[in-house]
Amino acid sequence: MALREILLIGDPVLTRKSDPVDAITEDIVRLADDMVETVHAAPGVGLAAPQVGVSKRLIVVDLSIGENEEALHVLVNPEILTKEGEAVCEEGCLSVPDIKEKVARPYRVVVRGLDLEGRPVEIEGEDLLARALCHEIDHLDGILFVDKLSALKRTLIKKKLKKNTAAPKKA
Ligand SMILES: [Zn+2]
Repeated sequence: MALREILLIGDPVLTRKSDPVDAITEDIVRLADDMVETVHAAPGVGLAAPQVGVSKRLIVVDLSIGENEEALHVLVNPEILTKEGEAVCEEGCLSVPDIKEKVARPYRVVVRGLDLEGRPVEIEGEDLLARALCHEIDHLDGILFVDKLSALKRTLIKKKLKKNTAAPKKA
């Protein structure tokens, strides 16, 4: 396994619609393993393949950040089957450092995809799990959480990001 570099907002890969995974090859399994290691190291609760520069429909979500194996979900070609309710909660993204904003998401979702053995899996997620699944699946369609905010909020965030990236990097 290896850590992969996480792309930041402004990178064109993050705004592209990803392609379905048509075969679970060794490369896909390696990518998934690397994504798990990368999201745990970050640390974060979810990562989508485009965030590490691969335009493929693959996500990992782990609300336990490596503490509980059962909380780790690796999903190939995930799609949302049903959405219910709504919850507004603060959200962040490893590709949008230091920004946290309130975003409305479904309270409950059912997501279908494949595991790394190619078997169909269905996950029912509520609250934070539903939020994380929706956030990561959005990445596969080139959507960042900041795209869901008002135009005014987005302008303020762009200014803040510019200031952050203009500052000299600490060693
Ligand atoms: Zn994200």
